[in-house]
Amino acid sequence: MKKLMLQYKQSIERNCIDTYTDGTDNVEYWQDRLFAGAMQFSIPLSIIAVLPGIIYSLYLDLYLLAFFDLLAFLWLLWVAFGRIRTVLYRKLHFIFCLYYASSYLLYFIGIVGPGLLFLFSAAIFALLILPVRYAFWWSWINTMVCVLFAVVVHFNLSTESAINQIEISHWVAISSNLIFLSFTFSLLLPLLIKGLSGSFRKQQVLQLDLSEKNRDLEQYASIISHDLQQPLRTISGFLNLLEKKYGHTLDDKGKEYIHFAVDGSVHLQQIVNALHEFSRATRYDADHFEQFRLEDVTNQVIQVLNEPVAGNRARIICEPGVYLQTNKAAFTQVLHNLIANALKYRKPDIPPEVEISAEDQPDAWLIKVKDNGIGIGEEYYEKIFVIFQRLHTRQQIEGTGIGLAIVKRIIEKLNGTVRVDSTPGTGSTFYFTIPKPQTV
Ligand code: ADP
Repeated sequence: MKKLMLQYKQSIERNCIDTYTDGTDNVEYWQDRLFAGAMQFSIPLSIIAVLPGIIYSLYLDLYLLAFFDLLAFLWLLWVAFGRIRTVLYRKLHFIFCLYYASSYLLYFIGIVGPGLLFLFSAAIFALLILPVRYAFWWSWINTMVCVLFAVVVHFNLSTESAINQIEISHWVAISSNLIFLSFTFSLLLPLLIKGLSGSFRKQQVLQLDLSEKNRDLEQYASIISHDLQQPLRTISGFLNLLEKKYGHTLDDKGKEYIHFAVDGSVHLQQIVNALHEFSRATRYDADHFEQFRLEDVTNQVIQVLNEPVAGNRARIICEPGVYLQTNKAAFTQVLHNLIANALKYRKPDIPPEVEISAEDQPDAWLIKVKDNGIGIGEEYYEKIFVIFQRLHTRQQIEGTGIGLAIVKRIIEKLNGTVRVDSTPGTGSTFYFTIPKPQTV
């Protein structure tokens, strides 16, 4: 049943959403989506409306009304599933199907029936799903239908008693309000749609500008970190030589100065390497999906981190039997950085414990990395993901402040999110989502 519903939804979306609209950041796409949504709902809903309608018409001997009802329903099915050349034609069919329904409902049931509602909703749907250049068509069509109906009422052209009982003054009062409302919406809704379209365009320009700037920044970071490595190696190499060869001739102050210089150059080298790693964090392809087991990647990371794991008698537990599908290299790097931090920010008196688990959500996997470390104050939850932001000095705990910035960058590249929850003194849990591959 679930599969059938999915197939029904997908086939309407395929027919009603234009594949030529460029991405989802434009009004045309959302107009198509609205149309697809209207079709998805109106078919089951019209079964509810049409079936009793047909039974009621047959009961009242209104065979023609029953026939028109059935025809409207078949037309709707054809709009959703039939072979129609373009989405625009499909939408026009939908609108004219509504006009057709409103006309025969007015004709057979008069102004107490749903005909007027259909007439108004046809114009509103048309304004919402069709290009704004047609905005006034629908008000004029409504005017035309109202005038035609007035002629039928005035000259008693109908054989239906429901129509003959209508007072022309009554009809004029009602239809003039409908025409007034139709024109008001023809004026107002295009303003909204044009406004939205303008802000989508502005957003696209800004996004383009931002991604260009980001690309430039990445290039700078990559070039700088690459070009700085060689001279830095030279400096630290010669400083080491200086210390080895002439260290014994220097007094304590001199030795201390050299020690500071060596230490500074080592730290600079760490920063440059980390910056290089950071600039490469977006290299992962978000559409490259591989299936793997969470415990396999965890074991791989444990092997790489063998020294701090064994040295601290760390216990790393991973939920078994979890299969994930994403860019494996990117995922491994994220898990590596989080586990490495869990070991680094451990409590001094107890062995570190890290628990890795996953929650299967409809569109994503929620991965949790929980530790029993020193924890993080709530006021730092955002700050720790910013590049070069640290909560400790290098003298307290070694680091460059880049590990979590890389984690955030990679996860965002994979279209996921990351956050932390922590109790200082008890431990932290890092949560991140890995979106599942879209099945079309
Ligand atoms: P680094 O570890 O090099 O300082 P990170 O970006 O990995 O850089 O981490 C930023 C800061 O977040 C760290 O300085 C540390 O204070 C804090 N932090 C990260 N992970 C943990 C953790 N598991 N427990 C406690 N604090 C953490």
